[in-house]
Amino acid sequence: MNLPSIKKFPVIPFVAPSDYAHTLRWINALQQAMPHERILPLQSLSAEERAQCTVAIVANPDPDDLKSLPNLRWIHSVWAGVERLVDDLGASSLKIVRLVDPQLAETMAEAVLAWTLYLHRDMPAYAQQQMARRWHAQDYVRPQRKTVSLLGLGALGEAAARRLLGAGFQVSGWSRTQKNLSGVDCYSGSQGLQTMLNKTDILICLLPLTAETRELLNAMTLAYLPAHASLINFARGRIINDDDLRSALDAGRLQHAVLDVFATEPLPPDQWHWTHPKVTVLPHCSAPTDRETASQIVANNMRVYREHGRIPEHIDVQRGY
Ligand code: NAP
Repeated sequence: MNLPSIKKFPVIPFVAPSDYAHTLRWINALQQAMPHERILPLQSLSAEERAQCTVAIVANPDPDDLKSLPNLRWIHSVWAGVERLVDDLGASSLKIVRLVDPQLAETMAEAVLAWTLYLHRDMPAYAQQQMARRWHAQDYVRPQRKTVSLLGLGALGEAAARRLLGAGFQVSGWSRTQKNLSGVDCYSGSQGLQTMLNKTDILICLLPLTAETRELLNAMTLAYLPAHASLINFARGRIINDDDLRSALDAGRLQHAVLDVFATEPLPPDQWHWTHPKVTVLPHCSAPTDRETASQIVANNMRVYREHGRIPEHIDVQRGY
């Protein structure tokens, strides 16, 4: 490949909040992945340099910071979830590219399998039993007799489905458009959602947060689940109506919830989830971005843009993801 020398490309600003702790680590990883580019914190760019930028790499940027880049055409987020960016920038003409990293999908699939097994092998019940010094073996049910259902069959949902199939579970999935995945019972539409929930033992949420998915899990949809069902939310807190979730747990209509994401993060100390016996709280840790693999993905997208002027597949702001 015959790339021009480093000086020929305008600087790529890395835009993150001023108190973000990992700006330099990101810049180092990105710089290593694309030595022909110059990647600098936005704050260090002159007005002249800012005027030359058509692309920026971002991590939860302040929209006002992006306004200081008058010729910006697109931004590449280093995160997979971009609903805040869509809220902040959806009305502008700026194209938003999110991270789609196969490594991230595998990390999420691993978390899906780990916490599915936690529920499948009754670990919440054994933890309670231990506190009560109670010696009692729960009935064992083979994974082949359990249905694990995925809300969302995108980059993360599809990898999770494969991992669950490999562990022997019956796997179902629901998406906006109808999918056809080998070994997976695929559903779409509101009737499809109800049919899938009716036969679900463990429900896993991997949807993006959009106008359509906000509080999708509420009193009505949670009631479609069989009484022994459990829930894992690895997507976004606001996809669940929290009061309805609590009522379903308290009423014994839902057995357990593993929650990695919350409406407010970090989860405030006074929130009910922390101490609820049927809730496992995780600190948004199910699928952390790997800086090294993510930087390679961003670098590939930048190379295509530099060579062909092509902006990678970006968010459809009407759809919200
Ligand atoms: P994606 O590739 O865009 O897939 C989204 C899936 O959701 C697609 O299957 C899509 O359907 C489906 N969907 C969207 N809106 C829907 C609706 N209204 N009804 C039914 N299905 C709908 O996204 P992804 O990369 O898999 O990521 C999913 C989410 O995971 C992200 O948005 C982010 O919030 C979350 N996440 C969490 C963590 C964590 O650490 N907890 C880490 C990374 C990501 P179609 O296939 O028909 O488009």
